[in-house]
Amino acid sequence: MNLVLMGPPGAGKGTQAKVISKKFNIPHISTGDMLREAVAAGTDLGKRVAHILEEGLLVPDELMFAIVKERLQREDTSNGFILDGYPRTVAQAQKLKEILQELGKNLDAVILITSTEEEVVKRISSRRVCPSCGRVYNLLTLKPRQDNLCDDCGTELIQRKDDLPHTVRERYRIYVEKTAPVLEFYRKSGVLKTVDGSRPLEEVSKDLFESLENM
Ligand code: AMP
Repeated sequence: MNLVLMGPPGAGKGTQAKVISKKFNIPHISTGDMLREAVAAGTDLGKRVAHILEEGLLVPDELMFAIVKERLQREDTSNGFILDGYPRTVAQAQKLKEILQELGKNLDAVILITSTEEEVVKRISSRRVCPSCGRVYNLLTLKPRQDNLCDDCGTELIQRKDDLPHTVRERYRIYVEKTAPVLEFYRKSGVLKTVDGSRPLEEVSKDLFESLENM
């Protein structure tokens, strides 16, 4: 099953992608995670994109094309994949279509998880991550067992700079301007399914599974 998960930053794409990845045994491909890993590892790519990520802006399309193409060529995508965070522009959606055509793959569904700006700001500003193992928490919905410490490795949790409220609003604005038109692109091709992301995690997952089973 080849899937794309869309929605504003903080709609819960990453969390739901992990659940789907486990249930269907397909890799979760998060371009945000790939870029953050490159920054942490200090690669050439990481050095080029670090400030862009910090400000919540979009990495240039040409760089993204190369990253996604290389990732979708790997063997572990042969039974499917779930793309999270790509495409974010109409040009990226067009390129994805080309890449998939070249690789003889199809998109089975594009799932939009909806959320309002206020919900997103509230949710993302409560997000904390473990700088050591990368586990993600939320002070409202997914609290660590001990205040501000990672359940897995005990490291003190941090707030990412791009999760600060003013950066979140900027990311939301960019989503409306650049990414919302991508939804139209997929709506026209008949693969778009919409799920209300404002509800508890488990309810959103249930809806997602139902819409995937009814494909
Ligand atoms: P995410 O974790 O998906 O919110 O991505 C974190 C950041 O990585 C974004 O705010 C962008 O700076 C960058 N990024 C991730 N995916 C893309 C993409 N498809 N196009 C451009 N920039 C991206």
